[in-house]
Amino acid sequence: MLQIEHVKLTLDEPESTLRQKAAAALRVPVGEITACRPLRRAIDAREGVCFVYTLRVAVKNESRVLARCRNRQVSAVGEEVYRLPEPVPAPRVRPVVVGAGPAGLFCALALARCGAAPVLLERGQGVERRGEDVERFWSTGELDPESNVQFGEGGAGAFSDGKLNTGTRDPRHRFILETLVRHGAPESILYDAKPHVGTDYLHRVLKSVREELTSLGCDIRFGHRLEGPVIENGAVRAVRAAGPEGVCELPATALVLALGNSARDTFQMLYAAGVPMEPKPLAVGVRIEHRQADIDLAQYKALAGHPRLPAASYKLSCHLENGRGVFSFCVCPGGTVVAAASETARAVTNGMSLYARDGENCNGGLLVSVTPEDFPGHGPLDGIAFQRALEERAFAAGGGGYIAPAQRVEDFLLRRPSAGPGRVVPTYRPGVRWCDLWDVLPEWLCESLAQALPVLDRKVRGYADPDAVLTAVETRSSCPLRILRDEGGEAAIRGLWPCGEGAGYAGGILSAAADGVRTAEHILEKLREKERAL
Ligand SMILES: Cc1cc2nc3c(=O)[nH]c(=O)nc-3n(C[C@H](O)[C@H](O)[C@H](O)COP(=O)(O)OP(=O)(O)OC[C@H]3O[C@@H](n4cnc5c(N)ncnc54)[C@H](O)[C@@H]3O)c2cc1C
Repeated sequence: MLQIEHVKLTLDEPESTLRQKAAAALRVPVGEITACRPLRRAIDAREGVCFVYTLRVAVKNESRVLARCRNRQVSAVGEEVYRLPEPVPAPRVRPVVVGAGPAGLFCALALARCGAAPVLLERGQGVERRGEDVERFWSTGELDPESNVQFGEGGAGAFSDGKLNTGTRDPRHRFILETLVRHGAPESILYDAKPHVGTDYLHRVLKSVREELTSLGCDIRFGHRLEGPVIENGAVRAVRAAGPEGVCELPATALVLALGNSARDTFQMLYAAGVPMEPKPLAVGVRIEHRQADIDLAQYKALAGHPRLPAASYKLSCHLENGRGVFSFCVCPGGTVVAAASETARAVTNGMSLYARDGENCNGGLLVSVTPEDFPGHGPLDGIAFQRALEERAFAAGGGGYIAPAQRVEDFLLRRPSAGPGRVVPTYRPGVRWCDLWDVLPEWLCESLAQALPVLDRKVRGYADPDAVLTAVETRSSCPLRILRDEGGEAAIRGLWPCGEGAGYAGGILSAAADGVRTAEHILEKLREKERAL
């Protein structure tokens, strides 16, 4: 197989011309090419907007073509195929996976495909009922602390933009993307440089993944919250879970903790049970909302609005003299700002979009880095106390009912309260209360945001648009603690497998899912060792 880099298409050239471009790069007639598929597609908006492809091409007489074409963009590559471990005999005691977010689902899927179908415990509800609970919260402000944007099938990413990019390379990523496509995600996620599925596709995919898990013998229990591992002689022996019928105890020798970053009560319980943890840096801030047309114009210039161009995004960062980093996070083009609370009387923002990304506004987190030294204490749970204090201030400033405090950027920079929106109408439901965020958030946080806005505006023109809206408070971008595990993925308590974002080993849907698969590999290896020892 040959790989050709940097194959460019103008906005007027259809994808069907890629084959001709590949033939030209290889200096062969088009008929010699037996297969041609995009491996990666990116948009280059630096000088005139164009698509840039990496192609995988099969051609007759490959080595002769490679030697003859003398093109530095062409190389011979092998197909990297990730394979799950060999199946194991069904274990006597099933593994128990806690959490049906990307980490837990992919851990369960890998275990089940390899013959060790687990019990999957999820405190929240299946995506159908969860969708109703979340919609009720957004329209009335009535929060269900067990079924919300953070908790339920699909985990924290179920109401999201469904971005699937990561900064890391891992052979498991392709396996995960292919699994998602097999379950109904759009094929473009296999080659887009910045793939995204949107909330609409995600929900379809989740139902289909559930069907596969069930068909493989996985015992999925929604509405079941882990209450505690039963530990004997430094090892897990059972699991206690609270469900609709009360507390039950399940035998377990492998317990996967795929809890996500919002399982605060569970972290407290685990800490009290002696599970080793450490505090971790995090970032907090606000959501910033612009008109999508303005972001398109800033990024695509004269070509803004071209029908082949997707809603534009951005990625921004700067380092301030006060030592803090400020950066954009989880940008949702054509999306909405969402109320993402999971605890009573604590307001939290985040963002989501549908696959089409065709909403009026573009929103993104605007976050300031925080280290454990900023927390009032320096223990593993002090980051949670820090997040909670901010969320309580935001809730109080909104006046209750999960109304969020908001301010126009111009007013924020002039330190005066906003009275209402300008050109940008906020999308957050159940609604915003206009105020002065300097009265709501700590001075150092506002100071950092105020310093960063003009700097970032120089990178994406209009970022500090006077009418852009800041909505508070964004606190759940990552986990404030890490549950310690060894190189083999196991905690000091044997049989306990911390996994995904909540354990502090992943950030985002794809990396959490990959950590889930990795954890399954470790557990399968342990099961194989046990089998050999018998
Ligand atoms: C609104 C929003 C938008 C986002 N957008 C994106 C995006 O576009 N792209 C991206 O990469 N990332 C996005 N993220 C982040 C992404 O969702 C997370 O990184 C990812 O879901 C982490 O996966 P996880 O499986 O580790 O944890 P989670 O997805 O948080 O899943 C953990 C699960 O564990 C369950 N649980 C917790 N405690 C217990 C217990 N005691 N008993 C039983 N179950 C329990 C929870 O209910 C939850 O379902 C977004 C997050 C939010 C909130």
